[in-house]
Amino acid sequence: MIDAHCHLNFRTFEKDVDKVIQEALDSGVKAIINVGTQIDSSKKTINLAEKYKNIYAAVGVHPHHTDKLNNNDWLKELENLAKHKKVVAIGEIGLDYFSYKSNGITDPILQKKLFIQQIELAYRLKLPLQIHNRHAEKDIADILDNHKLYLLSPPGMIHCFSGSLDFLRKVLDLGFYIGFDGNITYKGVAPGETTSLLDLAKYTPVEKILTETDSPYLSPIPFRGLRNTPKNVIIVKEFLASLKNFDAEKFQTQIDNNFERVFKVEL
Ligand SMILES: [Zn+2]
Ligand SMILES: [Zn+2]
Repeated sequence: MIDAHCHLNFRTFEKDVDKVIQEALDSGVKAIINVGTQIDSSKKTINLAEKYKNIYAAVGVHPHHTDKLNNNDWLKELENLAKHKKVVAIGEIGLDYFSYKSNGITDPILQKKLFIQQIELAYRLKLPLQIHNRHAEKDIADILDNHKLYLLSPPGMIHCFSGSLDFLRKVLDLGFYIGFDGNITYKGVAPGETTSLLDLAKYTPVEKILTETDSPYLSPIPFRGLRNTPKNVIIVKEFLASLKNFDAEKFQTQIDNNFERVFKVEL
């Protein structure tokens, strides 16, 4: 079992990150990708990955933070970080057009520019992508289409998938794997979305699914609203296995294989 995307470097884990990791490993989680969202948090993900054999790092600048880079050397800095042997992906990168209470929407032109720069960097370093999309599927699809030559095979994953069936078909066609999280257990359709996660997960072939938590966010039911931790990926896995009418053990083996294939990691 794997948690392909979480944020153990966030402040909420400051005091007990080692315990949180141990609990996940004891529960049978075999690998965790801890994901950076800025240069600083990307450095921290590498530090943690150096400490634990089963923890890997993804480094990148999240669209929400694209306006917070205070020097022009960020891309060079990111490239140096990405060369570390525990870095298995560039992420999370992408586009986010949701208006956050803290700072609204980051300039879309800047978001697109940095998304493309990081796609090109990943291609140079032969690393798969972890893509974040929130209410931006059309622009993401256009950018990926225009940068097909910069996509590896497989190109990576769309993490915490949401969007339309058309977008899902599009990214599957491009070879992407699809990450589902604890919000798959929530009822209904999230505000601003058109298609339920249940329908999207039903459509996604098991050979293309990855399980993740996005900890500390998106705790599955019955822990909704509480801090999420990688161990809860078990709930995500069991929910998806039953949704797909799959034996839980076989499902887990398939997801582990998918993980090894995308991130070139041996479990
Ligand atoms: Zn994200
Ligand atoms: Zn995330």
